[in-house]
Parts: sequence; C-alpha cells; structure tokens
Amino acid sequence: MEIKKGIGVSPGVVISTAVVLDAEDLRVPKRTVEPGQVQSELDRLGEAIGAAVVELNTLRDQVATRHGKEIAAIFDVHMGMLKDKYVFQQIIQAIKDQQTTAEYAVSVVMRRQAAVFAKMKDAYLAERVKDIHDIEKRILHHLIGRKRQDLAKLTSDVVVIAHDLLPSQTAALDKSHVRGFACDVGGRTSHTAIVARAMGIPAVVGLGNITEEVNAGDTIIIDGTRGVVVINPDEESLAEHREFERKHARLEIELRTLRDEPARTLDGEQVILQANIEFPHEVDDALEQGAEGIGLYRTEFLYLSKETDPTEEEHFAAYADALKRLHGRTLVIRTLDIGADKYREGAESSERNPFLGDRSIRMCLHDIPMFKCQLRAILRASALGDVRIMFPMISTLIELRQARMVLKDVEEELEDESIAFKKNTPVGMMIEVPSAALMASNFAKEVSFFSIGTNDLIQYTLAVDRTNEKVAGLFCPAHPAVLMLIRDVIRAGSRAGVPVSICGEMAGEPLYTLLLLGLGLGTFSMNGPDVPEVKKIIRSTTMQHARDVARRVMSFDSERQVMHYLREETRKIIPEAF
Ligand code: PEP
Ligand code: MG
Repeated sequence: MEIKKGIGVSPGVVISTAVVLDAEDLRVPKRTVEPGQVQSELDRLGEAIGAAVVELNTLRDQVATRHGKEIAAIFDVHMGMLKDKYVFQQIIQAIKDQQTTAEYAVSVVMRRQAAVFAKMKDAYLAERVKDIHDIEKRILHHLIGRKRQDLAKLTSDVVVIAHDLLPSQTAALDKSHVRGFACDVGGRTSHTAIVARAMGIPAVVGLGNITEEVNAGDTIIIDGTRGVVVINPDEESLAEHREFERKHARLEIELRTLRDEPARTLDGEQVILQANIEFPHEVDDALEQGAEGIGLYRTEFLYLSKETDPTEEEHFAAYADALKRLHGRTLVIRTLDIGADKYREGAESSERNPFLGDRSIRMCLHDIPMFKCQLRAILRASALGDVRIMFPMISTLIELRQARMVLKDVEEELEDESIAFKKNTPVGMMIEVPSAALMASNFAKEVSFFSIGTNDLIQYTLAVDRTNEKVAGLFCPAHPAVLMLIRDVIRAGSRAGVPVSICGEMAGEPLYTLLLLGLGLGTFSMNGPDVPEVKKIIRSTTMQHARDVARRVMSFDSERQVMHYLREETRKIIPEAF
C-alpha cells in the first residue's frame, strides 16, 4: 500500500481499478497469463524486439541521409540497448517466473533499469534514462500499440491515472465508466479539475509521479475531499474509505431532494443558480441537479475536440441543441476562449508566456473571419431561445468596443441576408483580469451583465499560474485582494443596474457561498453537481446573517483568517462539508 498526497480538486471518494495513460496513451496492464501461454508471451516479445530493430534501422538510415551520421548515431545507442542481453534476460525471466504478459515485464524491467541510470552521478549516463524510456515505448508500441484499448469504449468502471488530461483526451473519454482522476500535475482550476467537478467525480491533481507508481489494474482509492490517493490499499484503509464513500453518497441523496426547491434565503431573497457546461448534452445533468439555466457555455470545446475549426453550421447545431434541452431557460454563450491552457492536442502555443499572450478575445480579434463565423451562429441561435453573448478576457474598453463592432457587422450581414435573429441580444463580459475589475463602473455603461471569472481573476491578481501544482498553495479565492475586487465589481454592477454573476470555480465552493451572498451576488454559475450543496446553504441562512459574515470577512487581512472563519460558519449548516 502507498499513500500519496496531492491537491483535492473535486470532492468525494472512489475505490476502483486504474487505467494509466502515459504521455502516449499506452496502457500497460498488469496481467498474469496461464502457464500454457508463457511461450506465446516470449514469442510476442521476440517479435516486438525484431520489429523495433527493423524500425530503428530504417530510422537511422533516413536520419543519416538527411542530417548526417553523427545525429543518426543516437539510433546506434538505442540499437545497442535493444540488444543488451543482460536486460532482456531479465525480461524473459520475469515472464517465466511471474507469468506476466510481455508488455508488463518490459515495462517493469525497463523502468527498473531507468531508475538505476537515474541515480548515476555521471551526467552522461544519467541522461540515458530518456533513451531507456524511448526504447520501452518503442517496444510497447509493437506489443500493445496497435491493440490499444480505446478510452472511448470502456467496458467497466475505472479511475484514470494520467500525467495531465489534455482537453482533447477528455472530450474523447467514455464518461459513463470513468469514476475518478488522479494526475501528476495541475492545480485547482486546471482543466482536469474543472472536468472532474463537472462530472461530479473525485479528483486529485499535483501528485508528482503517480503515473510512474501505478500500474494498470491496480486498486486505487481517490479521495478528492482530502486530496489523497492510496495505491493498492490494505483492508483497514479500504474499510475506512468505504465508510467515507457511503457518508458522501448519503449526503448526496439528501441534497437531491432540494432539486425543485427555490434557491431562496430564509428571509425571502431569491438567488439564481446556473450551471457551467462544455458540451450541450451536459445541460440535462445540470437541470437534473437543479440549475435554472446555463451561465457559462465554454464553446472552445467545439474547437478542441476536432482538428479543424468548426463551421458555422457546427456551431449553430451545438447551440440549437443546448437551447432545445433548456426549454426556454437562459443560455450564456461565451465566445471562443482558446489559448493559454486550452489548446488542441499538438497545437500548443510557442509563446513564452501564453497566459499573458494571444489568447481568448485577443485571438478572436486577430482572426475576424473565425470570430464572425461563431457570432453568426450565436445570433442565428438567438432566434430559438434565451441566448446571451459573453466576451471573455476583456482587459480594455477598446477591446470590448471592437468585439461589439464585429458583432454589429455580423448583425448587419444577417439582416442583409434576411436571416432571423433576436435584435438586442444581451451582450455581457467576463471580469477576469484585474484591469477590468478595477474599471467595472466604466464597463458597466457598455454591457448588459458581468460574470466574474474567478479562476483567471485570482491567477492574474496574485500572479499564480492556475495550472501549476508548485504554486497551488498560493492560488486562493480567499485572498483579501481578490475579495476586494469581487466586492467592488458587485457594487459597481449594482449601482449601474447591471446584474453580476460569478462563473469561476469559487461560485460552486460551499465555503464561499455565505460570503458571496452577503456581498450581494445575485447569480452563481457552477458545475452542475455543486448546485445542491450551494442551494442548501442559501436556503439555510438569512441575508442579514450573510451580510454579517461578509462584513466580518472583509475586516480580515489574511486568507487564513478568512478561510478559518468561513469554515466554521459553513460547518454550522453542513457539518459534513469539509
Ligand atoms: C474563469 O476564468 O473563472 C472562467 C470561468 O473561465 P475559464 O475557467 O474557462 O478560464
Ligand atoms: Mg477564464
């Protein structure tokens, strides 16, 4: 048994079987074979090594012709390793002694070999670790590469262990069988964390090297509430976590009874609870959890799940689908927010500082045809239901005005073509950059609504990369500077009669519900599974109490004090919450 501590980013406990995705998605199942099959595993190993040698020969010749013999010499090194009798004797022995599959034996022996090299003082030898991993992957490709199990077609429940989940991998997952995630890297608002919360499954990220320590088929406990992962737990640990799993399930059942109840405080203040989605079909689950509409549709997933930009028709079909499922409820469509941590696989940014670079609305304003294509589809969809347009990452008034001008152009084009759309479709903006928060009263004159994106607002206010596990401890919604910005945006909105929502992860964290309510927030947009717990808190308090809590919180000067106090107050309502 091994216990690993990481960052719990989606609550709950799950006990299940591991599927390990390495950087190339190769799964190395830990499986034993019948004694009669040992010879066939040895044959498979021989064939895979033979194929790898042929492949290396071809590569070496190609590289030598194009780049010269010196560069091609790396393949000679690999070839030498491939033919290393000492290593292969160990693999053969492992298959014979432990009766495992060839791929498992290759993986175990090569990783052991890599660990020996990694400890060497000689820098040249230590560097050879990468070559060993390279060879391991090459052989595994021949052994299992072609019969890779498709993650889109899982047949039983699993937990996914990955270095990090790429958005494109998430898009392809068969979500019905994925019960939890554990990743080497990531922070509270990294993509994996958001997806896990949206799916309502436990997740722990920032675990360092979990992909190296878990073998496919291992039993894993993922405790997203406490940020712990247990590899191959003993009986005692299993029993303890099963009990916790049961408690959590009971709380969920209790909360579900609130689905059709209004999000109203004891003294009658009505609040709007909406959900965030990345795909139209998620609307159903969101409504099931009691959401009253969609406050954030992250449309970039239309771009991330395929290799080419979506066409206007594809955009339109997705929006029409979401609206149909919403039956007249609100749909806030956020325009493309690609870049920084959200890229297509293989199309990562070459910018030195992508979070401060050409992302989101900036990218749209640099590619007007692409931007217009999306805006045309959104406007066409506005004829079908309650659509609102939201621009992300606005940092200057000029940017907002430019985006609105492009929208105006598109409206005129549609009019000329006699295509139906709703005139005066509400246009709002995200407040997720400190410059926008500080100038909220200026922006308020030019938009119909604000939605505070706390994930980015925290990142840019505190200078903490939201996806970097090394600084995850500094990423904190409770930081007084962040709270002051939120308070001021809510005030600016209220003075100008512009409704304010929060759609960052903070909106769905029960710890902050009383505070946000007390600061005067009227709309919360969160992952569907968070709705019931937030609703329970709202229904259990009065505005007077929430305002008192907010006043007290705003008098603190450290995030520690804020969190300690909020934890105490929230536990009075939901003792099992933390
Ligand atoms: C945010 O930044 O808070 C937000 C909701 O947007 P995203 O997480 O998609 O950047
Ligand atoms: Mg954002």
